[in-house]
This record gives sequence, structure tokens and C-alpha cells, in this order.
Amino acid sequence: MPRVIFSVPHAHSRGPEDAQLHQYDLAAEEAASGLADRLGSAGHEVSFRVGNLNRMEVDLNRPDSRGTSFRKSLAREFPGTDFLLDCHSFPPTDFHWSIDVALLRLSFGPDNAGTVHALAQALMAEGLSVAVVWGKHANDVVAHAVESGVPAVLAEFSEHEMSESGGRLLDSFAAGLDRFLGELAEGSGPASRFRGSVGMTEGFGDRIHVPTSDPTIRRIISASFPEYKGRHAVIEPAELVDVRSYWDEGNRSYFKFVRLSDFRASPAIPAMHPAFDPQYKGADKAPVVPGVVCVEHKFHGSGQGLTIHVNPSDMNQMALPAPDELDWAQKVVLLATRSYKSSYAGRGDFRYQEARRETGITQQEWDAASETLKASGHLDKRGAITMKGRNASERLPQLYSLGKARSSRLPAPDTGPEGGGGVERGLAALAEAMA
Ligand SMILES: [Zn+2]
Repeated sequence: MPRVIFSVPHAHSRGPEDAQLHQYDLAAEEAASGLADRLGSAGHEVSFRVGNLNRMEVDLNRPDSRGTSFRKSLAREFPGTDFLLDCHSFPPTDFHWSIDVALLRLSFGPDNAGTVHALAQALMAEGLSVAVVWGKHANDVVAHAVESGVPAVLAEFSEHEMSESGGRLLDSFAAGLDRFLGELAEGSGPASRFRGSVGMTEGFGDRIHVPTSDPTIRRIISASFPEYKGRHAVIEPAELVDVRSYWDEGNRSYFKFVRLSDFRASPAIPAMHPAFDPQYKGADKAPVVPGVVCVEHKFHGSGQGLTIHVNPSDMNQMALPAPDELDWAQKVVLLATRSYKSSYAGRGDFRYQEARRETGITQQEWDAASETLKASGHLDKRGAITMKGRNASERLPQLYSLGKARSSRLPAPDTGPEGGGGVERGLAALAEAMA
């Protein structure tokens, strides 16, 4: 069974003020120990290493800390280790989309893009919302491991998601990691396919993975590459894209542009093999203008993927969450689920009791609304809030104020794929602004 190190360089707190100022990673140790437990129970050989210095004194994730006892003992473990996960956590952000975990690609030193993307795929397959971003600093624990021949990834866990549904997050992460480690051991999985950063756009950081069930993403795909059947697409900001399309060692990307105002697609970019085909001037640096996206359908070996390159100014609009129309009881359930733990002080129905006290909702109304929210994907099967539910709840008023709003008119029902869901509203606003 694979041997795995879980390292936590930013775990040490000197007191309450460090928590207040976020001078250590509040949820990283909990995430790492939770994963170590789970992987250990699954039969992996695990090692759990927690830093003993606060990052304000010595940042144990920087190159000049290699002489510390934490870093030295970590390095002694590298031989014979199959994988290292360096665990961190990030405070609540103002992202327009919810992220369970962000995986960082190294910007300095060795490249670990292949490992990062393979792990991201395995985690997404478990239903996690995963961002892949460029590290802005020298992430030296991972760099040191990779230099020493140990595949390694830095994972930033969402402190918000950890406190709301840490069990779900860690269960899914552990399942994805377990599978990823199996692929790594076989040397055959996505890790080898992605090596070489196929079709990667350099120079920009953030990318988001979106389900292809999203209505807008679906329209973009049916306009451009309707044959694409993957469950996810990647949205990536870019001002320029290299759209030269030709077979190269089993890899090829096809490109089409799609205008967002009417979802009209351009014809496919013709083949442009450097040796055999006519070259189109500027194809290596085709501009991605606001309001038009460049859709890239990638083939690498037996795998395929779809990347939607968007002008950075469209990024937020693309990522706007669904404009959900919820009725009163659904709003109450969603807000109570977001705001309260499921049980507290020995009461298993704490959320309902609090919601009843603040808004007067009855058990029957609560149960009915919970069922519809599960059906619409705002809550998961166990009643925990999902990414969709959280996005929808962010535009709602405080729970107590819903007590008074009860008699007011119910909002119009969701009008289906045209009117509800996805990133439609953001794009409609965008198209309007451009008209
Ligand atoms: Zn950290």
C-alpha cells in the first residue's frame, strides 16, 4: 500500500490573537488529521507531520526554513514515500463560487502540474468543488518533495466548508485521494496523461471547474462541441489563446469561438500543422474578447476535456451563481441550514427549532420544503447545504426577517432552463451591457 505524508506547516497558534488575524491555518490540522485517519483505516501507511513554529516567526513553507527540525525530519521521510499532501486552509473569501478545496500549482522551482490535475480530477469525481490555482509564493514543502522525487500537492481547505460540512468534505477527499494513489501506484492514470501540461494556457492563475449540467455551459457546448460528453468543463481566464490545431504525439485540441449574446459558434479553426498546413497569422495569439468565449475540446491519449477560455472581465459574470427563485419555506430552511448546526445541546432538530422560533415555520412546511430543496440540489441527501444552496442563500435576508415577510406574495416559479439556474443571469446582463 502507498506511503503518504500529510504535512501541516502553518498549524501552530501562539494564542487567540493568531486566530483572529489568521496567522495560522485554522482548519489545516483538522483536515490533515482527518485525512490521515481515513487513509490509515483504508490500509495506507500514513505519516502526519505538524509544524511547531508560528509562520510569523518562521514560515516553515519557505526555502529558508529547510534547516528547521520540522523540515529536516520531513525530508528524512522522503525516501520511500509515494505522495505528500501539504495541508493548508483559507478563510472565507468573496469568491462568487464556493470552493471546497484549492490545489496549488508550483510557480517556482519544479513543475507539479500533472500531479495537481490528476488529483483535481479524482476529487471532482467525488463531487468536490475544486479550484486549481497558481501558487503566488515559493511553496517549499511541496517543491522540496518534488525535487526529491516524491509527487506532492499543496491543498488549501476552505475553513468555511470545514466548519459547515467537514465530514462530507473529508470523506469525499479521502475517497478521491485513495483512488488517485491507486492510479499513481499503477503509473497509468491521469497523472501520466496530464504530464506535459497539455494545452495549458500559461500566465493566468484561477480556473474553475463547472458541471456541464449548468444551463449556460450546456448551451456553449451544444453550440460548439455537442459531442463532448464529459461531466465537467473548465472555465479559464485568458486574453490570448494559441488556437493552432494539429495532432502532436497523440494530443490535439479543436477550437471554436462562441458569442455569449446569442450562443452562435464560429466554424472550427482549420488544422495548422507547422510542417504540412497553411499557417494563419496570429493564430498563436488569438485574442479572447469580452462577450466571446473560445471553446477548446482537448484530446490526450484516450482522454478528453473541455476548456472555455473567457476574457478575464467576463470571469465573474461566468461564475455568478444561479438566480434561484425560492418560496418562503424554502428560504427559511436554507437559511437555517446555513446558519445552525444540525444538532446542538442534545437537540437533534436544532435547525428546525431555531427556524420555528424565528419565523413560525411549522414542521409540515419544514419537511416539505426540505424535500423540494433536496430534489433541486440545494441540499444534499443528508440535508447538508450544497454549493448551489450556499450560493442561493447568499442573496437572502437574515432568517429573523423572514418571519414578517411571510404574508407577502410568493415569487414566480422557476421557468425552467431558460429562466433559472446556472450563470444565465450574469450572461444576460453582460449581453445587455454590450448591446
Ligand atoms: Zn498555509
